[in-house]
Amino acid sequence: MDRARNQLLTWCEVDLAAIRRNLRTFRELLPPAAGILFVVKANAYGHGLELLAAEAASLGADWLGVHQVDEAAAARRAGWSGPLLVMGYTPQALLPEAAGLDLDFTVYDGATIHALEALGRARARPIRCHLKVETGTYRQGIALEELPHYLDLFARSPGVALHALSMHFANIEDTTDHSYAMAQLARFREFLDQAATRGLRLHPHAACSAAVLVFPGETAFALARVGIGAYGIWPSRETLASTAARTGQPVRLHPALTWKTRVAEVKSIPAGAAVGYGGSHRTTRPTRLVVLPVGYSDGYDRRLSNLADVLIRGRRAPVLGRVCMNMIMADATDHPAVEVEDEVVLLGRQGDEEIRAADLASIAQTIPYEIVSRISPSIPRVTPDQRIVAPGGSSRSG
Ligand SMILES: *Cc1c(COP(=O)(O)O)cnc(C)c1O
Repeated sequence: MDRARNQLLTWCEVDLAAIRRNLRTFRELLPPAAGILFVVKANAYGHGLELLAAEAASLGADWLGVHQVDEAAAARRAGWSGPLLVMGYTPQALLPEAAGLDLDFTVYDGATIHALEALGRARARPIRCHLKVETGTYRQGIALEELPHYLDLFARSPGVALHALSMHFANIEDTTDHSYAMAQLARFREFLDQAATRGLRLHPHAACSAAVLVFPGETAFALARVGIGAYGIWPSRETLASTAARTGQPVRLHPALTWKTRVAEVKSIPAGAAVGYGGSHRTTRPTRLVVLPVGYSDGYDRRLSNLADVLIRGRRAPVLGRVCMNMIMADATDHPAVEVEDEVVLLGRQGDEEIRAADLASIAQTIPYEIVSRISPSIPRVTPDQRIVAPGGSSRSG
């Protein structure tokens, strides 16, 4: 794709300076020795993996974290040469290619460690592994009883190097009661104590955004894995409340993403008209309707039908009727000056109005993570200097 911005139907503008500020805020919360692993899985939570991988060093990331090898390859192609952790499972068949990308791997099974050991030996440089441990999330991780076995395995496997023990919190953002998180942390310390008796020098990591915001000192260890907060989005209302209670001083995060589209059609329809599929909205007055070329296939959730607003000329305009696959309709009756090709904000700020990921999440009965991460990767991401980063690697100034 090679398009000027005025040729785009829908696009996301990504404010790199906001991400830089947010990462600086996390840096200030963390103990000085802790590094930041910037989590860029799921197309950088919808913000554009290629764009952010290319800029990651200047944004203040020490590490990048991805879910899978394809994302790691994209980050390498975009120019990130620093440490890069794959946090999800890597199929055996992909390990040779993955090892060639100089990645760190999250491991929790013998088969993966054996395969990496052979690859590390072949290249005569050990492959770094982060052994994930089970502290009560029951997603990935080895049990405490298994730790001696794994430490033995690493001790006799020169092709792999045990770099870290890691864990993930199950219940730190959804609550202001952090007793379960603290129990997980205590469990993690049992793993670390056992490893310490062997004299291993490891780089433990446990924290996600909410952990840093609420318990920076206790959860940081060597590295914090920061995702949602780096993008300027609070993990939850509970995290916001807990952070304010802890610091007494609100931490400020700056949303980095503005999702835009443009008016494709303006028309007048009568009172009593049934708008869209199923006729789920019936107008109560003569209505100025705008048609916007974005829909659920672009990631604009169908549950926003009849409930969300968009911003046109700095003011709210309600979505009317059901969200279609590629279109939505909105009520611009109170925006008399609206014209075809006017910019419309679906998410973000326009004038004095703002629609936050959390607002759309509460309407769609989900979490802000899902709202941003499901914005289609095929939508171009545009930097403030107007560089268009299109899916598939091409970019241009326009
Ligand atoms: C996604 C993820 C994170 C980042 O969590 P945020 O809440 O977005 O900061 C950290 N660690 C792991 C293992 C993850 O999968």
